[in-house]
Amino acid sequence: MRAIVVGAGIGGLCCALGLRRIGLEVIVYERAPELREVGTGIMLWANGMRALDALGVGDAIRNVTLPAVQVTLAARNGYREQMTAATDSLEKQLSYTPVVGFLHRAELVGTLAAHLPSAILRFGYECETVQLRGPRVAICFTNGHTDEADLLIGADGIRSAVRAALFGPSEPRYAGYTCWRGVCPRPASVGPGELHLWTGWGAQVGINPLTEDRVYWFATKNAPAGGRFADERAAVLDLFRDWASPLPELIVSTPANQVIRSDIVDRLPSRPWVKGRAVLVGDAAHPTTPNFGQGGGMAIEDAVVLARCLSTSDDPESALIAFEAERYPRTTAVTNEAWRFGQMLQWQGGLSVWFRDLLSGVLLRINGTNNLLKHARYNVGPLPTGLPTNSER
Ligand SMILES: Cc1cc2nc3c(=O)[nH]c(=O)nc-3n(C[C@H](O)[C@H](O)[C@H](O)COP(=O)(O)OP(=O)(O)OC[C@H]3O[C@@H](n4cnc5c(N)ncnc54)[C@H](O)[C@@H]3O)c2cc1C
Repeated sequence: MRAIVVGAGIGGLCCALGLRRIGLEVIVYERAPELREVGTGIMLWANGMRALDALGVGDAIRNVTLPAVQVTLAARNGYREQMTAATDSLEKQLSYTPVVGFLHRAELVGTLAAHLPSAILRFGYECETVQLRGPRVAICFTNGHTDEADLLIGADGIRSAVRAALFGPSEPRYAGYTCWRGVCPRPASVGPGELHLWTGWGAQVGINPLTEDRVYWFATKNAPAGGRFADERAAVLDLFRDWASPLPELIVSTPANQVIRSDIVDRLPSRPWVKGRAVLVGDAAHPTTPNFGQGGGMAIEDAVVLARCLSTSDDPESALIAFEAERYPRTTAVTNEAWRFGQMLQWQGGLSVWFRDLLSGVLLRINGTNNLLKHARYNVGPLPTGLPTNSER
């Protein structure tokens, strides 16, 4: 059986790894002219790491990941510490190391791609239309190329062309806040593996050390959709100038042209994700706001479940439906909770912020780090390897 994957992001590359592992022939079409990810960091929790293990690339990704050794939560623009926890106790609870780690996105997709034959990755192919033809799926690209296969995996992100072709166009939902991200040298004041998450009035900040003495930082702020500044670094510095050290220094030491701004969007969970022999995965199926740092982890889990469903069924269409049935409740919970959590983190009224900080302080004292681990506890399970079991292959 031959599968076409559209999109060489985290989800598409992991699907290619999973499908090849169960013996399928795979080709990946990516619209960008080369392997490309935004030049920032990403956090991967134990659930995503476990899924990478199932795909056979866990060790390779751990090599480029800096595990968090300590998590500090602080309110009032980073000035009022609410909790500091060493991650070794969390690791014991999860029986997994690391419980959470950070890596550069380019190193994540580069490592995933390095475990695939370069001949199956085609760059500069933007999917334009999809046609379902009985047991085959045909795809046309904007460069005039056409291809068809037994299976189509739409892994082309939140504004998925595959999604629009299968289910009609629809706009993502704006969460009401925008996010600036950057990578800069790690100052001495941030120890290796020391993760900081801060809240303020209508704003959040994350300071996340990476390997090679780098830091990935992000800062969010309530704002109308679509806004842009001529100099985003100057703008974010201005907005966060009075936040606790070292945030302003981190912003200043990030090259101005490498400060990335993204409006935060998701989609209200909805299905189907499957039509005939075509299926959506990752952000194409279930984009989430990044408040739990789980969007990438969900895409990796999808790849394991998709390959497992295909490896245990003789009927690809039933396998895709089984995939959707297994993944929908999990991803819906993450999307809905991340949305609600994000809305609360972005509260900006004086009274609501005071109430949130009081409540979170109490909850952290009662419940400790349990909430942090809620979605990281999930274990996607193994992926059978070896010869394909499907009679069609
Ligand atoms: C500010 C921010 C912070 C985040 N932080 C985290 C985090 O810490 N941890 C985490 O796990 N997740 C995080 N996420 C979410 C995470 O980035 C996504 O969930 C993840 O990238 C989804 O992967 P994907 O492969 O499904 O989609 P994408 O990463 O969007 O990849 C889609 C790929 O398809 C390609 N493509 C698009 N259209 C076409 C087309 N028509 N034809 C061919 N190719 C196409 C694109 O070029 C791209 O390469 C964050 C997101 C944001 C916005």
